[in-house]
This record gives sequence, structure tokens and C-alpha cells, in this order.
Amino acid sequence: MMVIGKPFLTVEQIQNRVRELASKISDDFSGKEIVAVGILRGAFMFFPDIVRHINVPMKIDFLIASSYVKSQTTGKIAIFADIREDIKGKNVILFEDIVDTGLTLKYIYDMLLSREPASLKICTFLDKKARRKVDLNIDYIGFDIPDHYVVGYGLDFEGRFRNLPYISIFKERI
Ligand code: 5GP
Repeated sequence: MMVIGKPFLTVEQIQNRVRELASKISDDFSGKEIVAVGILRGAFMFFPDIVRHINVPMKIDFLIASSYVKSQTTGKIAIFADIREDIKGKNVILFEDIVDTGLTLKYIYDMLLSREPASLKICTFLDKKARRKVDLNIDYIGFDIPDHYVVGYGLDFEGRFRNLPYISIFKERI
């Protein structure tokens, strides 16, 4: 049996924080153009929510990555679809759902950095610092959360619950 508890982060808390982050990014990149890269599938809800509140000129791109089998990390990262923009000399911001061990984002970060962008920043909706395995500098963090497996707002368990507009802590009972 699967149990989804009451919201850990409510729709209102999420939307308020998303607007705050968007306003910080807009200030930091004032007068510049950015390339906003959404990392799918997890950021499919966070990404459109935040970019619609960022008021600097931007191009939108996507990257499809996966590192998880069920809720266990395998440490193996697969890039299913790369970005299409040429990012050389551009200001790039990566938008991720959650940083856990950091292995996924570190791999993507290093891959994109080798293409010589003018700047490369990371924005994550959730950060589980307790489980970090690699050194990663995250520029924008929505919420720091403790080490729980969470679902909703783009995050899944075996493909489900991504559509929930809030974040819940996931528990599995047999
Ligand atoms: P990392 O490489 O940082 O360990 O893992 C990042 C990816 O693992 C995230 O993009 C996400 O897909 C998945 N992940 C990590 N923690 C959680 C969690 O608490 N819930 C869900 N649904 N996915 C998670």
C-alpha cells in the first residue's frame, strides 16, 4: 500500500517561493539574456512556473536525464535528450526539481560547462543537503528539506504522483 500524507509544502508556499526565486533571478540577470534549461522529467512543473515570472529576455530549452530506478539512486546517469541551443558565450541557468546526492546535476553541469557558456548557474526547487556526495555550488534553492523521499510537483514514485500541485512525503507500506 502506498501512503501520501498531508502536504509537506502547500500550493501557496510553493507558489510564493517560486515568485521570490524568479524575482531574485530577474534582478541578478537584469539587462542580460539567459538560456533557461529545464531538466526533465522532474522539473516539468517547476520550470514553467518559475520562467513565467522571470522578466529578462530568455530562450527556453530542455534536457532529459534520469538517474533513478524506483526510489534508489544507481549513480548511473543517462541523457536521453540533449539541449538544442548553442550555449557558447551565453548565460545559462539549469532548473532542477531536487538535488539529492548531486550526481545527476554534477554530470550535466560539467557536460554543459565544457561548451563554454559565459555563465552557468543552478536553480533547484528542493535541496536535500544531507545526502550530498559531490561538491556542487547551487545558486538558487527553493526549499532545503530533510532526508525524506518526497513526491508531487513534478516528483514521482515509479512514475506516479508527478501531477500533484503540492509536495508530500512518500511512505510505502507492505
Ligand atoms: P541525485 O543525482 O542528486 O542523487 O538525484 C537527483 C534526482 O533523483 C532528481 O532529479 C530526482 O529525479 C530524484 N530524486 C532524488 N530525491 C528524490 C525524492 O525525494 N523524491 C523523488 N520523487 N525523486 C527524487
